[in-house]
Amino acid sequence: MAFNALIVEKDDAGKTSAAVQQIELDRLPEADVTVAVEYSTVNYKDGLCIGPGGGLVRNYPHVPGIDFAGTVEASDDDRYKPGDKVVLTGWRVGEAHWGGYAQKARVKADWLVPLPDGLDTRQAMAVGTAGFTAMLAVMALEDHGIKDGPVLVTGAAGGVGSVATAILANLGHEVAGVTGRPETADYLKSLGATQIVPREELNETVKRPLESETWAGCVDAVGGAMLARVLGQMKYGASVAAVGLAGGAALPATVVPFLLRGVNLLGIDSVMQPYENRLRAWERIAKDLPMDKLEAMVQPATLSDLPKLGADILQGQVKGRVVVDVNA
Ligand code: NDP
Repeated sequence: MAFNALIVEKDDAGKTSAAVQQIELDRLPEADVTVAVEYSTVNYKDGLCIGPGGGLVRNYPHVPGIDFAGTVEASDDDRYKPGDKVVLTGWRVGEAHWGGYAQKARVKADWLVPLPDGLDTRQAMAVGTAGFTAMLAVMALEDHGIKDGPVLVTGAAGGVGSVATAILANLGHEVAGVTGRPETADYLKSLGATQIVPREELNETVKRPLESETWAGCVDAVGGAMLARVLGQMKYGASVAAVGLAGGAALPATVVPFLLRGVNLLGIDSVMQPYENRLRAWERIAKDLPMDKLEAMVQPATLSDLPKLGADILQGQVKGRVVVDVNA
């Protein structure tokens, strides 16, 4: 039975194009579990994979979509049987292996996680890779101890930032959200932020390596000059969970915040997380992320909306989380 998939192709001149096509099951890559995909999402990496040049794509033609949730249709692995609800993030799916922008996917059982109690497949993808990463970041901050005072979230109106804001606020932390879009202030407050920090306040390059001790912790989705600046504003012994580089990869910082304030810079990678960590993070998401706040972040989409949304996310124009109903 043919099904719909967003296929990205590359022509002889190296130009890529993305379009929804009908394909047969035998086009899917070999692996042990076939999933009837229900929802996928739009992450920053998906923007790179759909867009011109192909970004991170390793093989063409390609089905992007770095995450999905759905129901197992067939399985050669004892851990999964038809009818099981599953969620996938990471493992270079949607980059090196065909991903979630299709009504069917075939993947390794090792890459899947059973859907935790308390989440349906749509909610799991409202969270998606961005929200899963936000949870990993919060868990990393907790492991190192969150100080008293406001916790900063950069890129707050984006996917990682929105979920991090909602989780931290729900856990009882005071949350300050940095945004370059003042019109998102009410949205961020509805997620639980109590302070909105305009992006330009933190975009200046570091002039003094240490500023007032302000932040009790930080989830940073932006990197670049903003991360460098924030390091000098952390409280003594506080931690920054570095998640992304939406504002640049270069880090024009000094070592002084590490030497004189004992600041911890914690790198967060969602792609290669072992099974136990993924399970723990999904269970924490089901417990600590209020579903009404998650719903407020969601923008619905279909497969045919993806080329435009991929471009939008690279421009920092997507608010919250895009949930793609692949059967719509
Ligand atoms: P989004 O595009 O949804 O959010 C990024 C946000 O960053 C934007 O909404 C905007 O927030 C802010 N921003 C964008 N451009 C700039 C800029 N030039 N300067 C300052 N702020 C900027 O992306 P995601 O939340 O999905 O991902 C954020 C980052 O995290 C990306 O770099 C992504 O690749 C990375 N990531 C890493 C993962 C990992 O495993 N480490 C997993 C998932 C994502 P606002 O409008 O509020 O200012």
